[in-house]
Amino acid sequence: IRSFLKDKNLFKEQGFINGKWVSAQSTFQVNNPATDELIATVSNLGNQEAELAISAAEQALPAWRSKLAKERAQIMRKWFDLIIENTQDLATLMTLEQGKPLAEAGGEVIYGASFLEWFAEEAKRVEGSVLETPWGGKRMMVLKQAIGVCVAITPWNFPFSMITRKIAPALAAGCTIVIKPAELTPLSALALAELASRAGIPDGVINILTADAQQSIAVGKTLCASPTVRHLSFTGSTEVGRILMEQCAPTVKKLALELGGHAPFIVFEDADIDAAVSGAMSSKFRNSGQTCICANRFYVHKNVQDIFVAKFAKAISSIKVGNGLESDVTQGPLIETAALEKVEKHVADAVKKGAKLVTGGKASIPGKNFYEPTILSGVTSDMLITHEETFGPVAPIIPFESDEEVIKLANNSQFGLASYFYSRDIGRVWKVAEALEYGMVGVNSGLISNEVAPFGGIKQSGLGREGSSHGMDEYLEMKYVCIGL
Ligand code: ADP
Repeated sequence: IRSFLKDKNLFKEQGFINGKWVSAQSTFQVNNPATDELIATVSNLGNQEAELAISAAEQALPAWRSKLAKERAQIMRKWFDLIIENTQDLATLMTLEQGKPLAEAGGEVIYGASFLEWFAEEAKRVEGSVLETPWGGKRMMVLKQAIGVCVAITPWNFPFSMITRKIAPALAAGCTIVIKPAELTPLSALALAELASRAGIPDGVINILTADAQQSIAVGKTLCASPTVRHLSFTGSTEVGRILMEQCAPTVKKLALELGGHAPFIVFEDADIDAAVSGAMSSKFRNSGQTCICANRFYVHKNVQDIFVAKFAKAISSIKVGNGLESDVTQGPLIETAALEKVEKHVADAVKKGAKLVTGGKASIPGKNFYEPTILSGVTSDMLITHEETFGPVAPIIPFESDEEVIKLANNSQFGLASYFYSRDIGRVWKVAEALEYGMVGVNSGLISNEVAPFGGIKQSGLGREGSSHGMDEYLEMKYVCIGL
């Protein structure tokens, strides 16, 4: 793998605790999902190392918290600059471990770095307040202070940006952090730690626990049980989110959860169809459909269904499936065989219940984890695909007739993360944006995430928001101070 990198030292296979690279007796393997080749053998850390990481973060906290915000911002800015300088290597590592095409991986590095830039700037703008007092002889104020030692548990679909989106506000606020990256994609996290160390982030401020699936569960328990850890931020499945929430109950930790989604994508009769197709392409097929904000259900008005489907199918025919390292490839593999099997199950169930395959519908040639970009029409609400997150490159098309009907269908989900719709009617735009029970709504836009906007969901899609000025509040406690004169 080193041969692919300009800076060979960005390839690391050990955990990172208190500024040192840490091995364990056991290791686990990381494979390239495009080729199935072994690309790394990584330290499999456990509870002992989790305790060490928590205590390193605890010891580093007082000095980091008491630095001037401006000083923390300067170090974070240096880290941001190093990431940008190394974009190509970071993107290559990501494509090798995760599969997404190089151009998308480079985009994720830039997106991930933007959180460091943004929160380095926000660090200087944390403001408390002075309150008007109802009592003579007293003065009242509110201070904002770093919450303390934080934990982040992150997924494989965005191996880089889901980490920076949590680290950046934590560090800006003055917190220290222990990160448990996904076992399928630890290399991006480790390269990030190497650059953090070069940027001058002090020892113990950032710690990375690499662990396989089984040890991740054990390490997760230790991190949740620790009274030293005051905040847990998790991005991943709703199922695991519930477990972590339960495990954090005894120590009453503050929680930020970014969980599953099941995004509706509505094309109204008055939509600009070409714009809707282009939005559908970026929302559905980015990362092979493996994002929690990917459109998962397409509701298309019956009068524009035929034209939308025809144009969508034409756009899809330009997708090139293959190994993401090849420059013309625009869709990589799914992360693992289990992911492919879920997609196959959803498509088979839909076809069995009467859906029609417009295009795609089977595993693809380049290797064992690939699936063709697929459109299913005539999808109905009794099919699995209309209820569960598919996490793959399949677009099910469901026709509708009235606004009331489609809003009801769109909201009929336990999830409430992202939603999208296309319409040029200003009255409808307002009404539908207000009626959708989702944390985020893309109107005439299939791309919505950036560092400035509050990312997050309602219902069982999670708690809290990441990015934006609100993202910082997650990592700050309010302290009310009442002073008798
Ligand atoms: P996905 O559906 O994206 O694969 P998961 O929710 O299974 O997501 O995993 C996301 C992250 O949560 C990974 O880092 C994984 O190791 C971790 N994880 C999974 N199960 C547990 C658990 N029981 N306790 C702690 N971490 C877990």
